[in-house]
Amino acid sequence: MTEELFRDDATLLACEATVLHADEAGLVLDRTVFYPLGGGQAGDAGTLRTPGGAVLVIADTRKHPALPGCILHVPAAGADRAAFTVGSRVTAHIDAARRQAHKRFHTATHLLCALVPQPVDGCSITATYARLDFHMAEPLDKDMLTAGITRLGAGAYRVRSRWISEAELDANPGLVRSMSVQPPRSADGQGRIRVLEIVGVDVQPCGGTHVADTAEIGAVVVTKIEKKSAMTRRVVLGFAP
Ligand SMILES: [Zn+2]
Repeated sequence: MTEELFRDDATLLACEATVLHADEAGLVLDRTVFYPLGGGQAGDAGTLRTPGGAVLVIADTRKHPALPGCILHVPAAGADRAAFTVGSRVTAHIDAARRQAHKRFHTATHLLCALVPQPVDGCSITATYARLDFHMAEPLDKDMLTAGITRLGAGAYRVRSRWISEAELDANPGLVRSMSVQPPRSADGQGRIRVLEIVGVDVQPCGGTHVADTAEIGAVVVTKIEKKSAMTRRVVLGFAP
């Protein structure tokens, strides 16, 4: 299993690790700072480096499809993997700009959840845009939502995560905002659930990476609102031009 260092500290950009497993799809490390695609958030990219100076570009990160609890670092197409075999010591570096974009957009989607009380039935967070689908028939106002994000960002609300028990989640069913994403359970088999709180603004189960306070979101705006179906309103976020 891979120790998920990004869960408790989303500011870590690098770590030392050992290659546990290698197959055609990529490499599994014993610990990593790379976030794997999940909960709507894109995976990290970056590099793995050996003490001898070999560099492997990682294009994407995913949960290993066959090995539960293992995170798969997917090399760029055609990359030379010769120096990266089981037992190799490596330093894993994420692409910091890509991660920061994910963190800013991801935290902004939580602000949208605070501004729009309806359930969420879809979510996608990339380095260039994010979208959040609300299960609702009523129209939404683009400028009003952008103003809300700007106001909550300027308020510099603290963002923190904690783990709760299944019993605590069951006792508070209103915590779950998403109809499409299962609450993120801990990898240690103890059934704990990670909860993300923007203090005074939003609280819900979430396993993604976030900024430390809402001022760090910066200039994120609603670029578009789409009616995807009779009961779906899609809010698209982008960086302000
Ligand atoms: Zn989140």
